[in-house]
Amino acid sequence: GRLNNNFQFIDVGRQDPAKKDMEVRQHEFVEIYEPFDQDQAASQSHRCLSCGNPYCEWKCPVHNFIPNWLKLISEGNIFEAAELSHQTNSLPEVCGRVCPQDRLCEGACTLNDGFGAVTIGNAEKYITDTAFAMGWKPDMSKVTWTDKKVAIIGAGPAGLGCADVLVRNGVKPVVFDRYPEIGGLLTFGIPEFKLEKNVLTRRREIFTEMGMEFRLNTEVGTDITMDEILKEYDAVFMGMGTYTYMKGGFPGEDLPGVHDALPFLVANVNRNLGFEKDPSEFISVKGKRVVVLGGGDTAMDCNRTSIRQGAESVTCAYRRDEENMPGSRREVANAKEEGVQFLFNRQPVAIVGEDKVEGVKVVTTELGEPDENGRRRPEPIPGSEEVLPADVVLIAFGFRPSPAPWFDEHGITVSDWGGVEAPETQQYKFQTSNPKVFAGGDMVRGSDLVVTAIWEGREAAEGIMDYLEV
Ligand code: FAD
Ligand code: SF4
Repeated sequence: GRLNNNFQFIDVGRQDPAKKDMEVRQHEFVEIYEPFDQDQAASQSHRCLSCGNPYCEWKCPVHNFIPNWLKLISEGNIFEAAELSHQTNSLPEVCGRVCPQDRLCEGACTLNDGFGAVTIGNAEKYITDTAFAMGWKPDMSKVTWTDKKVAIIGAGPAGLGCADVLVRNGVKPVVFDRYPEIGGLLTFGIPEFKLEKNVLTRRREIFTEMGMEFRLNTEVGTDITMDEILKEYDAVFMGMGTYTYMKGGFPGEDLPGVHDALPFLVANVNRNLGFEKDPSEFISVKGKRVVVLGGGDTAMDCNRTSIRQGAESVTCAYRRDEENMPGSRREVANAKEEGVQFLFNRQPVAIVGEDKVEGVKVVTTELGEPDENGRRRPEPIPGSEEVLPADVVLIAFGFRPSPAPWFDEHGITVSDWGGVEAPETQQYKFQTSNPKVFAGGDMVRGSDLVVTAIWEGREAAEGIMDYLEV
């Protein structure tokens, strides 16, 4: 038992779940990690020291009750663990898979100092996957329904987080999304090797049973107007994400063979899921030399999708060094294992080619003085230009907000960088300048993480309930 072995962390080292064979990882769009079995989950969870003031909980953006549910796993109490885990997180099985744990909960684990952090992410995924497989469902028996209903625009993690808290408090959420499945970037962005899509299908079924209503294939502003929504519902939450692609601003970006990251990833998902409307949307890199520009999660996903499509070579050029990459360390390591070549300290200055892309001209950089965010600015070294040969270039420089044309007429203000304003100075949490409209996730904070979007959606739900006085 837990009490008679406080030194489990020394006897039992950190063990990540096994990864699938390289043959599978280089060709198939399936998750690369095997699931934990009960013994592994229990013995890994048992390594937790139950720190009195757990840093992991503070560092986790939704403040999960981590040591408490680790204890429940080590005791084999999966249903209780699932109940507890859902008190703070609306999509724990998703966060367990895609959070950059090395920078969040596991980075803050006391054992991270030499012994190896507790495998918190995999434990979180294990709880919900196992509970669902055993027939567990969120307990809605004590919910008393109010007469209020709230429209939610966007079925991404922010919208779903908001809807989850509302429905558990008896407020009816009706979720609108322009896409044919829920999840936002979880479905139409993040590839299957990090997150298989049946995870979201299962979630949609569970959420529907809990009382959420989904109106998919419905774009607000085209298929239904904001006017109609404001008339019919007691309040609105917007979690519409950020979808304006950042450009490099260098010559050659319009050459055939140069693509933005998201259309490439989404076309790949659409083909795998059978959502493809027109085969010409698909961007094939089979047999081609691919250069990916960028160093975040999106760039890693482009790299690894290209490997699986059968590219001849995949080179990722990033303008800072490996230490300063913004993406998850785990996924960079996975990309390397799968055969991606990394070129650090390379800044693209032009895409070259006659009537289609032939290469990317880069200069070598060194890190100079820190910028206003404290990150050291890459500075080009004179005379270091070289051309990386390429048949396809994928640009993954990030996203900016995409304010809807109808924001103005409904008094929803955006800041100078385009993010919807929902500041703390408002009367209710995440309320916009239109008192009836709330917002959260990427469209408010700028593109960030799944778990921060969930948090803001959940917090906004609290704001909405205060506003509705329920
Ligand atoms: P979104 O997920 O973008 O959802 C917005 C939803 O709103 C979409 O479904 C959209 O269709 C819908 N919508 C927009 N406008 C309308 C309208 N007018 N009418 C109806 N519906 C509308 N984060 C991580 O934590 N880990 C990762 O590994 C990770 N990998 C990523 C990989 C890629 C390729 C990308 C692009 C992002 C990644 N992220 C990752 C970031 C993460 O996906 C986002 O931060 C998160 O999804 C934001 O959630 P959201 O709910 O704010 O917006
Ligand atoms: Fe860690 Fe993310 Fe889970 Fe929080 S939600 S415990 S940060 S994996």
